[in-house]
Amino acid sequence: RAKQKSRGTISLYQPEMDQQIRDRRVLHQDLSKAIKNGELSLAFQPQGVARNSVAESEIIGFEALARWQHPVRGQVSPAEFIPIAEESGLIVEMGEWILREVCREAASWPKPMQVAVNLSPAQFMHGDVVGLVHSILIETGLAPGRLELEITEGVLIEDFDRGLALLRRLKSLGVRISMDDFGSGYSSLSYLQAFPFDKIKIDRAFIMNLGRNPQSAAIVRAVIDLGHGLEMSIIAEGVETLDQLAFLAKEGCDGVQGYLLGKPLPIGKYADLVGRGEAMELALKTG
Ligand code: C2E
Ligand code: MG
Ligand code: MG
Ligand code: MG
Repeated sequence: RAKQKSRGTISLYQPEMDQQIRDRRVLHQDLSKAIKNGELSLAFQPQGVARNSVAESEIIGFEALARWQHPVRGQVSPAEFIPIAEESGLIVEMGEWILREVCREAASWPKPMQVAVNLSPAQFMHGDVVGLVHSILIETGLAPGRLELEITEGVLIEDFDRGLALLRRLKSLGVRISMDDFGSGYSSLSYLQAFPFDKIKIDRAFIMNLGRNPQSAAIVRAVIDLGHGLEMSIIAEGVETLDQLAFLAKEGCDGVQGYLLGKPLPIGKYADLVGRGEAMELALKTG
């Protein structure tokens, strides 16, 4: 009731809101130059098999995450710049750059690790995402089976039929589709039934609360069972502690991702995992 009331009220003038709008506008101008100025880069976060210990949780792939090094502000979070890129349409160009870089990078690894990349709603629903993925796979030579596209369920709410058609066409290219941040937002069980996801990523919020409230444990357990019943694999996001890892392993979760296994970092920090370790050691010895 209180909520309803406040929604109807006209908000009072707040100087900091003006500031926010100005900030966004400036950030948008800067962002439009970021690609050609070489300010965008990728961080890679390891994804492992869910086992009882870190040592046993073999790394089988990475999620690529965009990073923006602003010349004045320093690192700007993707949580801040992706929405700006999205609203302004910049995301189409930026998303293409990201996808190409990710595929090019992964194709160059000596070990054929998996790689996941986030697709934004605008990219998914408004561009020719199937044509783009197809041509970048050909251009970079990345095996389609190594690429996973992460989308959030919000993407599909806009237009169910188009969403379903796109997912099917993408899957026919041989790439995998995962539902990101499952459980946050407008999760609906019917989506899982309707759309051919290969994987569900359980939102970090549930993992974070595992030790704190029994409800989260019940939800995580249920999502794992549900996903498996639908023949989807399950990965938990935001795994930070050994207790969380042990719980997920015990419950039969397939994968884990989080600071416990590794933070998102430039791929050079994970050189050994992608099979560049020996080359690097050699370079160190001889250099
Ligand atoms: P996401 O796709 O759900 O990515 C996971 C986020 O959780 C990342 O934040 C990652 O750094 C963070 N994270 C991973 N493990 C842990 C953990 O153990 N603890 C905590 N506290 N956080 C963890 P990041 O890199 O700031 O990205 C935020 C969001 O921005 C992403 O959420 C994704 O929605 C979006 N984003 C990032 N890169 C891209 C991109 O290239 N394209 C698009 N469209 N969106 C992107
Ligand atoms: Mg993601
Ligand atoms: Mg996520
Ligand atoms: Mg997220």
